[in-house]
Amino acid sequence: MNMLKIGKEKPQAKNIGIDLGTANMLVYLEGDGIIFNEPSVIAFDYYTHEVIAIGHQAANMIGRGHQGIKIVSPLTQGVISDMDSAKKMIEHALKKVENINVESSTVLICCPSEVTQLERDSLIGLAQKLGVRDIFIEEEVKAGGIGAGLDVYSSNGSMVLDIGGGSTDIGVLSLGDIVVSESIRTAGNYFDNAIMNYMQYEHGLLIGKTTAERIKVEIGSLNEEITEERTTTASGRDVVTGLPKKIVVTETEIRDVLIPPFETISNTILKVLQNTPAELSADIIKNGIVINGGGALITGIDKFLNNRIGLDFYISKNPLTAIVEGTKLLLKNRGSYFVKPTE
Ligand code: ADP
Ligand code: MG
Repeated sequence: MNMLKIGKEKPQAKNIGIDLGTANMLVYLEGDGIIFNEPSVIAFDYYTHEVIAIGHQAANMIGRGHQGIKIVSPLTQGVISDMDSAKKMIEHALKKVENINVESSTVLICCPSEVTQLERDSLIGLAQKLGVRDIFIEEEVKAGGIGAGLDVYSSNGSMVLDIGGGSTDIGVLSLGDIVVSESIRTAGNYFDNAIMNYMQYEHGLLIGKTTAERIKVEIGSLNEEITEERTTTASGRDVVTGLPKKIVVTETEIRDVLIPPFETISNTILKVLQNTPAELSADIIKNGIVINGGGALITGIDKFLNNRIGLDFYISKNPLTAIVEGTKLLLKNRGSYFVKPTE
C-alpha cells in the first residue's frame, strides 16, 4: 500500500522537508517550495476519536467547540505531547505530496531540541510506515540558522534565537552543528496567556486564546518609547455581569505585559552567552544574533534585546518559514558537516 503514489506521470524521488512546530507545521517539496503551511492543530470527535478537521480549519474551532469536539496540538511547550496526533498531522500534510516515489525520496523532519530520542525514533517509524525509507531528523535551530542565510558550516560561530509558539530556543552554531543551546517555555503561547490574565485582572474581561493572540499580533510591542500609540479592541465576557463586553486596549498596556517574559528570554540569552566558548563569543559579537520564529515579528524586539544584551540582533528575513527553507540545503548536504552552502 502506498497512498502517496498518485498521478499519471512516472513518480519521482524528491527531497521533502518538514518543520514540525508547536504552532505551525510547514512542508517543503523539492522543486515546488513550501506546499503546506498551517497551524499544528487537530480536532477530533470526542467519542469516536475520528479526525474532524486539521490545520486552519481546526484552529478556527479553538474556544468555539462543544463537548463532542476535542482540539489537540500535537506539540506543546516544545515537546511532542501527543504522538498519535503528531502522526496524523504529518500524514495529512504528506497527502498533499502527489506523484512522488516516496520509497526513494528523502524526508527530513526538524524538531525542537527538547524532543527525546524515543520520540525521534517514533517519527522515523511513522515515516517508514508511510513508505519512506530514507528519513533523518535535524534540530530546528540549525535548520533555522541556514534558512536565515547563515553559513552554519563555517568555523565562524553564529547564534540563533527562535521564539515560536511553545518554546524559545537559543543555539550557538559552529562547523555545522550546535555547540551550546537552551530551550525555555516562555514563547508565543505564554505571551497569549499573559495577555488573557492581564485582561481579566485589569479590565474584568475574560477573553479567549484566539483573541489574545490577535491582540499580540496587531499591537504587540517592545518599544521603550511609543510615539504613535496603536490600539485594538478586545471582546469577551464581563467577569462580573457575565455578559459580552468590548473594550479598547493600547500598545503601551500590551508592551507592559510583554516586557516581563522578554526579560526572561533575555536572561536566558545571557546564560547561553556565558556558556559559549571564547572564540565563538568573539564571532557572535562581530556577527550579531539572528531572530527566527513568529515572536521575531513583535515590534521593537531587536532594539529591546540590543538594549538588554549589548549585542546586535537581526530579524530573519522570513522568521516564520526559515526552518523549512533551511531543510532545502540540509537535504542537499545530508550528513555532511563541512559543505559550503550554495544557493
Ligand atoms: P512554532 O515553531 O512553535 O510552530 P512559529 O515560529 O510558527 O512557532 O510562531 C508561532 C508563534 O508566533 C505564535 O505564538 C504566534 O502567535 C506568534 N506570531 C505570529 N505572528 C506574529 C506577529 N506578527 N507578532 C507577534 N507574534 C506573532
Ligand atoms: Mg518553530
